[in-house]
Amino acid sequence: MRVLAVEDDPRIAADLSAALKKAGFLVETCGDGEEAWFRGDTEAYDLIVLDLGLPKLDGLTVLKRWRAGGCQVPVLILTARGAWTERVSGIDAGADDYLPKPFRMEELVARARALIRRSAGRGTPVEAHGRLTLEPAKMEVSVGGKPVAVSALEYRLLSYLMLHRDRVLPPVEILEHLYGDEDSREANALEALVARLRRKLGPGVIGTRRGFGYFLEGGAG
Ligand code: CA
Repeated sequence: MRVLAVEDDPRIAADLSAALKKAGFLVETCGDGEEAWFRGDTEAYDLIVLDLGLPKLDGLTVLKRWRAGGCQVPVLILTARGAWTERVSGIDAGADDYLPKPFRMEELVARARALIRRSAGRGTPVEAHGRLTLEPAKMEVSVGGKPVAVSALEYRLLSYLMLHRDRVLPPVEILEHLYGDEDSREANALEALVARLRRKLGPGVIGTRRGFGYFLEGGAG
């Protein structure tokens, strides 16, 4: 999952980035409204965490521009303590959730996961499909009830496939959400990653549709 964290306070930005990375997200940060607007408009994120008080362009304006431009990404806004009017304007402008400062990073991460789930139309925290089960709060993976140890990158791939388990995912899309734009890899890096995961998970978990991409095999039905 790829997250953009927009925050001009370097200390909070560093904490945000560390907490989200620890939770298995690919995190990019930016510290001003203009750059945030541009990146949200041109890059594919699974979630954006947006501070409202930003230099160059305030967060509310950025959010309104994203929504006006058709950008549907879930947005969690960070508001000043006690500023209920900010929360109301934020939600009116298209925010999906908010957190007043100061907040606990644990709460931010929990809300981030819930927002991503909801944006994919799912409510339950434990994700299961076929023989594969993911427990996002612990970043644990099991196949047929047996735990499997995976790396952070492998987990990120599995959680992206899980979130979009109703379709076949093109490699280009997976690469973007796995590595971001700054560090985009070759398709064969993805092939190697999938091959490694298949050895760990066994057959019947990650499927390939030639010429289209990858998908999670074996639904309940
Ligand atoms: Ca700020």
